Amino acid sequence: MTGNDSIAQRAQKVLTPNYRQSVAIVRGEGVRVWDADGKEYLDFLGGVAVNALGHCHPALVRALEEQARTVWHVSNHYFIPRQVELAEALLEATPWARRAFFCNSGGEANEAMLKLARKYHSDLGHPERNEIVACDDSFHGRTLFTVTVGGQEKYRHGFEPVVPGVRHVPYGDVAALEAALTPTTAAFIVEPILGESGVVPAPEGYLQAARELTRRKGVLLLLDEVQTGIGRTGRMWAHEWAGVTPDLMSSAKALAGGFPIGALLATEEVGTHLTPGSHGSTFGGNPLACAVALAVLKELRGGVLARSREVSAHLLAGLERLVAGGRVERIRGRGMLLGVVLKGVAAAEVMKAARARGLLVNAIGESVLRLAPPLTLTPAEADLAVERLGAAIAAAPAKG
Ligand SMILES: *Cc1c(COP(=O)(O)O)cnc(C)c1O
Repeated sequence: MTGNDSIAQRAQKVLTPNYRQSVAIVRGEGVRVWDADGKEYLDFLGGVAVNALGHCHPALVRALEEQARTVWHVSNHYFIPRQVELAEALLEATPWARRAFFCNSGGEANEAMLKLARKYHSDLGHPERNEIVACDDSFHGRTLFTVTVGGQEKYRHGFEPVVPGVRHVPYGDVAALEAALTPTTAAFIVEPILGESGVVPAPEGYLQAARELTRRKGVLLLLDEVQTGIGRTGRMWAHEWAGVTPDLMSSAKALAGGFPIGALLATEEVGTHLTPGSHGSTFGGNPLACAVALAVLKELRGGVLARSREVSAHLLAGLERLVAGGRVERIRGRGMLLGVVLKGVAAAEVMKAARARGLLVNAIGESVLRLAPPLTLTPAEADLAVERLGAAIAAAPAKG
């Protein structure tokens, strides 16, 4: 009783039923994973844009094993040398940032970021500046504050009352943003690319306009780079493409390549307002997580980003060729975060057909597939994935 079906049966009896799960993954290596029945897949979901260096990367395994033999966890009652090293490495890769806070997930990083935005204005004698402006269709996590700030009603439904002082504007609409920023606005939070809503890049000029407007109106600019950071778009952070810098930024997902960790990066001006006792985390920035994250950053400094941009261009060219088949409208996104926009065929059906052909992708809504392969993908692996995806798209039943 160890195959996919038996694990599914047992899971359905003992786990809360909040996920829609398919097969049971038991092993991974690079871009490949194997399920409980021994079937091999190319993993183009990558643990939801987490496994930036693929599965079981030797340098990450080594870092984890070494740290596991040294010390696992001590809490933030003590200095943690690995955490200091990680903060130094992250800040070096992020020139505008001067302070780092560590937690365990993207939702927690955003929770800290939103709390700090309010506290900053409150400390400055403006507690009335507490409103958070966020975007329709955005995703910022599953805590009560972050589902309130996220622009998707379905994630708030049934959990009301939600956190007060949050309003939403259409993503990419500069005029709506300008109108929403008032003397009671604390911060505007935005993703450089809407990840969970179907890989929708910010329109040209939007982040620059948001920076200009927030600066002019005394509002903090918060970037959620939980999904887009750590090289996912071909640069360390997606905001580098736009040439803007925020006041606060969240990171998580790929930061330790699959080991849970989250981080909040801040300017000196704002970051110092997370004063002693004001916020904290038991596990946040523990030695194991920091050791693995340090290994990830070291790999990224070694040419992974440049290579990922080349392979992304190769992958994109292959995906563009699928447009000729008539069931792909277009490809969007950047680097190793791509959305395949389908027409005439349901994304869920293509996801299933791809899985049967040994390719794991993620259906978002009715018509988008998200691809988030490792940054270490090779051109040959990209070609194989495009071939399997093309076959899956052709084989899926037409939309009724
Ligand atoms: C995944 C994600 C989060 C939430 O991260 P968790 O680790 O699941 O809490 C927040 N924001 C964005 C943009 C994400 O993609």
